Amino acid sequence: MVVSRISPDTGESLHSTFASRYATTSLPRFKMPDNSIPKEAAYQIINDELMLDGNPRLNLASFVTTWMEPECDRLIMAGINKNYVDMDEYPVTTELQNRCVNMIAHLFNAPIGEDDTAVGVGTVGSSEAIMLAGLAFKRKWQKKRKSEGKPYDKPNIVTGANVQVCWEKFATYFEVELKEVKLKEGFYVMDPVKAVEMVDENTICVAAILGSTLTGEFEDVKLLNELLTEKNKETGWDTPIHVDAASGGFVAPFLYPELEWDFRLPLVKSINVSGHKYGLVYAGVGWIVWRSKDDLREELIFHINYLGADQPTFTLNFSKGSSQIIAQYYQFIRLGFEGYKKIMENCRENTNALKEGIEKTGKFEVLSKDVGIPLVAFALKDSSKHTVFEISESMRRFGWIIPAYTMPPDAEHVEILRVVIREDFSRSLAERLVMDLGKVLVEMEGLKVASVIGEKSNYGVVAKKESATEMEREITTYWRNMVDRKKTSGVC
Ligand SMILES: *Cc1c(COP(=O)(O)O)cnc(C)c1O
Repeated sequence: MVVSRISPDTGESLHSTFASRYATTSLPRFKMPDNSIPKEAAYQIINDELMLDGNPRLNLASFVTTWMEPECDRLIMAGINKNYVDMDEYPVTTELQNRCVNMIAHLFNAPIGEDDTAVGVGTVGSSEAIMLAGLAFKRKWQKKRKSEGKPYDKPNIVTGANVQVCWEKFATYFEVELKEVKLKEGFYVMDPVKAVEMVDENTICVAAILGSTLTGEFEDVKLLNELLTEKNKETGWDTPIHVDAASGGFVAPFLYPELEWDFRLPLVKSINVSGHKYGLVYAGVGWIVWRSKDDLREELIFHINYLGADQPTFTLNFSKGSSQIIAQYYQFIRLGFEGYKKIMENCRENTNALKEGIEKTGKFEVLSKDVGIPLVAFALKDSSKHTVFEISESMRRFGWIIPAYTMPPDAEHVEILRVVIREDFSRSLAERLVMDLGKVLVEMEGLKVASVIGEKSNYGVVAKKESATEMEREITTYWRNMVDRKKTSGVC
């Protein structure tokens, strides 16, 4: 390692601090290094390594926001040293979170007056929000069972097999059984009829998803509410509904205001939404809102006073940043209903353009519905020659990150690709994506074409009949083996 000379006056390095001087030996990975290095070098080493990450803007795998206005970036930086939990020290930040909760509750048609305070809290994301919602249901159910002198040790939640992994986490961490309604080919969301059939006296809630993570499709919460109301009447139970609107909560109110999925339905007692998805804030914020105070038991709220005045807290973690909450409030007042509506409409149009382009290739069947989250989920019509996993892998070469995955039971044999359309995904990017998809298809077909006609393929490869066939087989086998090992790529 080269040691540069240090100025006795300033302590600054006098020589170039280009990081390579400090990284001629590899950086320690397991033990903290013995010595310090200049700040510029530390910055550069880390910045250089991060260059090898994917480009977030081309990450079409995720719903999570990757672009915000520079003014908001500035607010985020200004709030970065504020611990959200110090509510007494940062009362304005607390006030902003309360305003956000109120706005969301009204957006979801909570039965509260114009100026009433809603019951809800900002979280790190929908996952934490769902843990809190699940806990509230579990406590309420246990309390009731106890008072009736009935056993309360086998709580369950009924959902579709398409639930996001955080529900499985909740079930495992908090010891609640997850009873999943199986999917089937051509039907990729929870069937409300089957869900209600599965409800029993131990069901703490039915969880419906507004915007299935896998295909973006909205589940029929209205029908679920009707069927469950009937069942509750027959049995004397009062099984409630939770809506996991992680992705759809900021889509449906703007694109489909007539769709009844929220607190307009009496059995819907709580709703979660990810502020960092179509709430248009960078990763790190979610929301949970309850219908009324009765739906959140006081015993789950902790009161602390060691940071100042009495502070109620109902979250899983304690300290966290304030920036995301400030950023959420920025988006609400900056965009307003009008702004969100325009952005969502724009996303929908880009989705349609992309969908048309994908359909035009003739190779794919689009599985996502017209009403739903702005995304295109599509499957190969014929996957005997190549698979969606290979296509996903090939698209990566152009910089595109498009996940490929298999559907949950009982539709595991269906393999799909999913492109999420966010605000920052422009029409020209949609067009380029279709072009690149076309190139990948041609390339995959190319070897086949070359082997058939024995002449110049689209990529200028001159291949002889036999050798081309052999080569195709070889490449396909290699590719399959490689891609098969990566089948578990996640989506969020
Ligand atoms: C993304 C998602 C989650 C998890 O939300 P996070 O905000 O990432 O914690 C839960 N449910 C659904 C339906 C989702 O799409």
